[in-house]
Amino acid sequence: MALSLGKIKSVASIPRNNPELLIEQYKVLSYQVPLMYLILLINTWALAVTHLYCAPSWMTRLAPSVLTLICIGRIAIWMTSVGKVPDAQLAYRALRRTNRLASIIAPAFTGWALALFSYGDAYAKAHVAFYMAITVIGVIFCLMHVRSAAITVTIIVNGAFVIFFALSDNPVFVAIAINTALVCIAMLAVLFVHYRDFTRMVEARTENFQLANHDSLTGLPNRRAFFSALDRAFSNANVRGARLGLGVIDLDGFKPVNDLYGHPMGDKLLASVGQRLSDTCGKHVYLSRLGGDEFSLILSDVGTDAAVLDFGNRICDALRQPFMLGDLRVQIGGTIGFAVFPEMAPDASKLFEYADYALYYAKQNRRGTPALFSADHQATIFSDASIEQALHLADVETELAVVYQPIVDIQTQVTVGFEALARWTSPKLGQVAPSRFIPVAERAGIVSNLTRTLLKKALTETATWPLALRLSFNLSAYDLSSDLETTEIVRIIGVSGVDPARIDFEITETAFIQELAFERVQKAATALRKLGCGVSLDDFGTGYSSLSYLHALPLTKIKIDRSFVTQLHRNPASYKIVKSLFALSKDMGLDCIVEGVETHEELTALRPLGEVFVQGYYYAKPMRATEIDQFLKTTLVSTPKVA
Ligand code: C2E
Ligand code: CA
Ligand code: CA
Repeated sequence: MALSLGKIKSVASIPRNNPELLIEQYKVLSYQVPLMYLILLINTWALAVTHLYCAPSWMTRLAPSVLTLICIGRIAIWMTSVGKVPDAQLAYRALRRTNRLASIIAPAFTGWALALFSYGDAYAKAHVAFYMAITVIGVIFCLMHVRSAAITVTIIVNGAFVIFFALSDNPVFVAIAINTALVCIAMLAVLFVHYRDFTRMVEARTENFQLANHDSLTGLPNRRAFFSALDRAFSNANVRGARLGLGVIDLDGFKPVNDLYGHPMGDKLLASVGQRLSDTCGKHVYLSRLGGDEFSLILSDVGTDAAVLDFGNRICDALRQPFMLGDLRVQIGGTIGFAVFPEMAPDASKLFEYADYALYYAKQNRRGTPALFSADHQATIFSDASIEQALHLADVETELAVVYQPIVDIQTQVTVGFEALARWTSPKLGQVAPSRFIPVAERAGIVSNLTRTLLKKALTETATWPLALRLSFNLSAYDLSSDLETTEIVRIIGVSGVDPARIDFEITETAFIQELAFERVQKAATALRKLGCGVSLDDFGTGYSSLSYLHALPLTKIKIDRSFVTQLHRNPASYKIVKSLFALSKDMGLDCIVEGVETHEELTALRPLGEVFVQGYYYAKPMRATEIDQFLKTTLVSTPKVA
């Protein structure tokens, strides 16, 4: 009984828990309800006219006029909403009003029509019956999408109709009443089916929309939803003259987790990151997942630049806290790039592009921190573009040169080898530092072309050195991204005649972990190792590589980044880091080179570490090939080491 009562209640009222359905119902009704009132008015006036001379004037003029005013009022209210996108709350109120009015307006019209019945002749009486029958059918059609209102009207009009005519003792009217009641019942049955289909259709559409706009892993809006939200937020900010901020987040150290513990763990981590970001951002920030380990934020009405960076710092701090994935505790980080409209970016697509650039910049320079797109970045973009153009036009054979920086054994002061460093003199731009043009060449997809030229030049030089000296050569992650490139490197070594065992290839930790599939780098590094070359991990300590990840690479050396060495004799924290990185390299059975030693104090501080190699301005700046002979004459050179 309780169940059936509940069911009756649900049929008779507006379902509140389905906002999408409410909105769809409202949209359909905003066209159909005015139409319904129009039918009602025309039919009503037609009936009033046929009774003009037999019924009292208040019934044929006044009453229809009052009803007309009510109907016109309702039409006007509905017409204002045509084409507008309502919210669920507004739709709910409008539908509930329609539902309630059905039980007031239906009796009013019914009562009026039945009251006229006694005045007319047989034709006029028949008109009353026809009016009621045809109008109720029209009304049911128009109210089809608010089941409760349609049912109310059917019950009121037909109930009164059937009772009234059944009591009229006129078999024709009784028959009409029964016919109409049957038709209405059939219509209700059809209406129920239609309403169910309509509800399902709306649900399916909502579901499809959800699927198309939501990221199933994190439950956040996806890339597509993000870009439409950005367009909306942008038009809004533009119209109101408000500041709009956009942030792009990229996780640091996500790939190692994915590679080492498998994709299910990676998925779990992403879901936890999504949750933590939602908690940190709160309700006023539109957070979405762009894909992979990239998330984005839309900040409406942002405050000062400092406030944006402050918010960014909170997010980076939150991401730095360890994540528990079952029993596994993982630590990652996140870097954010922000751009703000209107100061820096003139439109939505530039806003995204610039935030992405700020992210890229932060990733290169200060991982785990927020960066705000600035005039400096703008200038770098311009100069990057001119570098890229000049690179495309460059004659690499003549414009590129290699300089060499010695690597020295700290205990014996013996020079064990040289690192080859690229130099580019562009006829248009002059000297361009490798830290500027290598990243540009990487992004432009032309770095491998430079690598081949530089490697050939470096090997030609190496072939002239004493056999004991090794060559360290920097490879870009892109050089290891395809079998073709690796094969080409192997071929160049073969042609050079230099023993592969004298060559160390340097790969930077940050580059390969971020950009490329680990398996590819691993495969290429393994191929180079098989050939007899060494593989060094450059800039060690600046990235987020997990230790077991490093174990998976066939490394022979680790190069501790310069940033830890500067002023290390004065900075106990730096010293501790260098000491533990050194211990770690020994633990892994790897040689260790400390980069960027500039002063005697730094060198002295490193000595107690033991068997370590150093490189830096203290011994020598990178020198031209022609200067090597002279340098070697003034220093010690080791005897050949059998690899
Ligand atoms: P890197 O591989 O870490 O190279 C060491 C950089 O530190 C070099 O800068 C070197 O000149 C500089 N350096 C060495 N000792 C000191 C010192 O004591 N103090 C200071 N302040 N700096 C020192 P460089 O030559 O400008 O190269 C910058 C970066 O460009 C390199 O960093 C490397 O990542 C990239 N690079 C250079 N040549 C090549 C190349 O042929 N191929 C690739 N893929 N990258 C290259
Ligand atoms: Ca290097
Ligand atoms: Ca380095």
